[in-house]
Amino acid sequence: MISISKSTSDPNISVYKHNRWKGLDGKKTTLANRDLQKAIAYYGDPTKFKNNQKLTDEKSIKYEAYSHKDTKEVLKEVFHSKCAYCESYIAHIEPGDVEHFRPKAKVVTDQGNSLIPGYYWLGASWNNLLLSCINCNRPNRLLINSTTDEVLMGKANFFPISDESKRLRNHNQDIALENPFVQLINPCSDDPEQHLDFLPNGEVKALDEKGEKSIAIYGLYRADLVLRRKKTAEGLSRTLEFLVMEIKDIQEKQAHGMPIDLSLDKLAMHLESLKKALEEKAEYLAIKKALIAQFIASNPISNNKLVDLGVDLTDLL
Ligand SMILES: [Zn+2]
Repeated sequence: MISISKSTSDPNISVYKHNRWKGLDGKKTTLANRDLQKAIAYYGDPTKFKNNQKLTDEKSIKYEAYSHKDTKEVLKEVFHSKCAYCESYIAHIEPGDVEHFRPKAKVVTDQGNSLIPGYYWLGASWNNLLLSCINCNRPNRLLINSTTDEVLMGKANFFPISDESKRLRNHNQDIALENPFVQLINPCSDDPEQHLDFLPNGEVKALDEKGEKSIAIYGLYRADLVLRRKKTAEGLSRTLEFLVMEIKDIQEKQAHGMPIDLSLDKLAMHLESLKKALEEKAEYLAIKKALIAQFIASNPISNNKLVDLGVDLTDLL
């Protein structure tokens, strides 16, 4: 998981900006605002929902803004068609889910209690939307890395907070008051590096409780994902090994007063593939950045030589 730069302002699409839809009061409004009106009228009505019980037979409302094709298109751009949680490229294998960071209809707590409704007023909120793959978002029994155990993972309606008394339950409450207690990493507002560490063998380690819960709930330790990250790390390690070889070659040639043009060309080629691997749209950037940081720390001579040649790998981090 890596930090994602997503504007907190609503995107410039009609769903959020143009008053083209008829609101509940008969006045024209945005589709997002109409969803909010519908959600408050339905879920915010104590005759319909009380004490975590649904008291009405009335059909649940249908949110339309988050599932609108324009909203999904913007999310795909923001997330480069990658899952916000596991960084897998999803566009070529599945349509991808528009994911609500705070679940809208129901919340399952750490203790296994169901809270109904969930964060209904955030069903259309731009700041609550991310793009996610099916495995991170939906409940699935998947194999844990290095074990033969299949475990239920996938975010579904889980949304742990460290103090249930701080849990928001209605649209009149201020979300900023709950944020410090949230125990899942939101890559759009948290720095995942503070909570997760990625190892060269593809594994991910938690640096704190928020990291621990995020690994378990998003399923970042599922076997197939760890294997993908491992393969990615192996590819990057090979490029870094080639870099070291070229640097040694350059140093030797310089010591003997030999021309280094050819070696510089090869070095540039390896640097180019390194830059490509670190492009924003590339998969698994967190493990790649961790490997490069490790390379810089454990190969100071090679890195210093690169700096002498005008290349600073820290620019890639
Ligand atoms: Zn994912």
